[in-house]
Amino acid sequence: MTATNDDIEKAVGVLRAGGLVALPTETVYGLGANAEDPAAVGRIFEVKGRPPSHPLIVHIADGEQLGDWVEEVPDTARVLAEAFWPGPLTLVLRRGRRVPLEATGGLETVAVRVPDHPVALALLSAFGGGVTAPSANRFGSVSPTTPQHVRAELGDAVDFVLDGGSCEVGVESTIVDVTSDVPSILRPGGVTAEDIEAVLGYPPAAPSAAPVRVPGQHPSHYAPRARVVLVEPEKVVAEAELAQELGHQVGVFLPAAFADTPVKAHAVVAVPASTAAYARELYGLLRAFDQRGCDLIIASLPAEEGLGAAIANRLRRAAGPRPSDADRATPAARPA
Ligand code: AMP
Ligand code: MG
Repeated sequence: MTATNDDIEKAVGVLRAGGLVALPTETVYGLGANAEDPAAVGRIFEVKGRPPSHPLIVHIADGEQLGDWVEEVPDTARVLAEAFWPGPLTLVLRRGRRVPLEATGGLETVAVRVPDHPVALALLSAFGGGVTAPSANRFGSVSPTTPQHVRAELGDAVDFVLDGGSCEVGVESTIVDVTSDVPSILRPGGVTAEDIEAVLGYPPAAPSAAPVRVPGQHPSHYAPRARVVLVEPEKVVAEAELAQELGHQVGVFLPAAFADTPVKAHAVVAVPASTAAYARELYGLLRAFDQRGCDLIIASLPAEEGLGAAIANRLRRAAGPRPSDADRATPAARPA
């Protein structure tokens, strides 16, 4: 059931009272708070178990409002905002005074975006201000793409969940730093590097070597409970069957070229045919492997062009070394 006008009003009330609202966007569901209320922003970090140094994205209703949230709007930012907003592109700019440091992880830059989802836009317009929102999941785990995912993972910790159905894009936004002369992609996402190059007339820079605090860059992120192991496409079947024989409950992402190959494993899913469908379904499939009791997921990386870059980035992080349980805010919820 998609959110009604009454739901939007209720959600606005929750935001004004300093509460947390889960909101649908075209990328993933966000856990939103009034961006200008440091206490409410603090609750996001508590609920997620997210380190306070990890900055959040400020969501606004309209690109025209960008200047209210940043110190200045460079030309490249204006061009990119006009081309891609509303849409899955986040711009990092110098922080305006309106944005509390709690929302930026103490940084003097702020990430801003206009989401392309009718429910998110209705909420943002009715609320009038900015809503800071990271993905509505516990720190490090798989982002939610349905309201059911949010409720299953966060339960009563979120004051209100706005239902906007399944997310169309399915992976997070592309984050572009526009604080220096050449824009650089900090995180690949729903808008591709090729799309950005087409608008700018030159390719965006690769991320600088300087340490930038981007939560998605933690070695393990976007991770299901099951271990994720990446192998070459032609080895997926053999590796999966070997692990299953060794006693694992194996979930398999079967590459398209092997779609007709029978696999002796616990749960087998054919990789969706288009990168758009793969991105849209990726997190739901990872969650489904967990639900079906898999302890190991065997996958291969798609070609890193277009949306494939974002999918490969998320799969690599999902396969990354896990933080020790001591680092986890809710170790009990994530058995080894
Ligand atoms: P999440 O929704 O969990 O992916 O978190 C929001 C994303 O925005 C994270 O990947 C942040 O690193 C990114 N972000 C927010 N503010 C900044 C900033 N000032 N500089 C770089 N990245 C940022
Ligand atoms: Mg996240």
